[in-house]
Amino acid sequence: MKDNKDISRRKALKLMGLGAAALAASTVSFKNNPFLTNLQAKALNGDITPVDKRLNYKNGEMVSMLGFGCMRFPTIGKGRTAPIDVPKAEELVDYAYAHGINYYDTAYIYHGGKSEGVIGNALKKYPRNTWLLADKMPTFAVNSKEDIPRIFEEQLQRCGVDYFDYYLLHSISKQSSYEKVYEEFGGYEYLAEQKRRGRIKNLGFSFHADRACWDYVIDKHPWDFVQIQLNYIDWKEDGEYLYNSLAERKIPAVIMEPLLGGRLASLSDSANKILKDKNPDLSIASWAFRYLGSLPNVLVSLSGMTYMEHLVDNLKSYTNFKPLTLDEQTTLQKAILEYQSYKRVNCTACRYCMPCPFDVEIPSVFATYNKLVMDGNVPNKETQSDSEYAKKKAAFANAFRKEFAKGGGPETCVGCQECLAKCPQHLPIPDLMERISKEF
Ligand code: SF4
Ligand code: SF4
Repeated sequence: MKDNKDISRRKALKLMGLGAAALAASTVSFKNNPFLTNLQAKALNGDITPVDKRLNYKNGEMVSMLGFGCMRFPTIGKGRTAPIDVPKAEELVDYAYAHGINYYDTAYIYHGGKSEGVIGNALKKYPRNTWLLADKMPTFAVNSKEDIPRIFEEQLQRCGVDYFDYYLLHSISKQSSYEKVYEEFGGYEYLAEQKRRGRIKNLGFSFHADRACWDYVIDKHPWDFVQIQLNYIDWKEDGEYLYNSLAERKIPAVIMEPLLGGRLASLSDSANKILKDKNPDLSIASWAFRYLGSLPNVLVSLSGMTYMEHLVDNLKSYTNFKPLTLDEQTTLQKAILEYQSYKRVNCTACRYCMPCPFDVEIPSVFATYNKLVMDGNVPNKETQSDSEYAKKKAAFANAFRKEFAKGGGPETCVGCQECLAKCPQHLPIPDLMERISKEF
């Protein structure tokens, strides 16, 4: 009887992607957490179907198709400095882990430096060889040669680990900053040495610059993986070029912004309708995840999930994964065309531009604007009748007055340009602020 139980436990843990070490450790580690015990019991009974995994052909590792991005943990209150709601964040991580997610992506700057500690702490109850932690050298925060080892050591300490499974040069956004940090300051050599010492298992970079910079960096070193922004909207911008470039070189792609900062979780009403008519049971977001999963060189798609319902829905897309059929691809293209007939601001809410010295709530301004675009409430004198124009102008102004009653609206922008270089989407933020505020 005991033997049978052990066999089924082993089988269930294997399904969860856990090894023998996990089997031994799980007996003691989960005792005091009723939520987790419940999950664990389900997993052990085989009641949880784990998310699909994909082979990293570079190192033989199995990586969950959905990765947990740690830049959008739930917080207590709003704003850049709002503290992480740790119990809620841990609940998400425990659920993700129990459902087979084994890739967790954090960074030095996420949540004002608190993300690393929270994810390290949430994962430490699980055997170290059952989860993969990705962290990043903050290229933009390195001002001297000495910063590099200091930051790296601090990151290991914050996360409570003695090695990173995946480590990235964070946000290569200009060739000059790559050259300064990784060549002049010796950053690449330092990190390559950490890899030789086993403190980094896989070394890559995340990318936000132009093609010339890409061509410069991609063949500089034998990268183990590269993180790029990709989704069905960005494909026709630089996405296709970057993806093909990685596939040709046999470098696995880790994907960020699969939902374009949440925008692909709900398109315009008319575009949503096209997708819902095709399959009412599928969420709009699931199309974005299935699109990426259908690309064979995508190793893992990262999603920063703040709410349990998002995690549950995203897991669904990659559990017993089915690539998009030809017919579904045609439907998606139709929806994309429909969606792109609306003009939105390409803001992903990453908040790299914040804080604004004049307290403009930049990402919130763009979110408010995009919602108005989606609802068809942007005034346009050229295309609208006088009465329609007046109606939309009033709706537009009301939305901004309501949202920014306490300040932080677009009219507060003085055009200082402090934010310009920080935006990985290269948005002309001051011009957009001016244009939006002119509407009211
Ligand atoms: S340009 Fe405007 S939004 Fe950007 S930092 Fe200056 S005041 Fe803030
Ligand atoms: S404006 Fe740019 S930097 Fe700021 S939140 Fe949006 S995408 Fe990120």
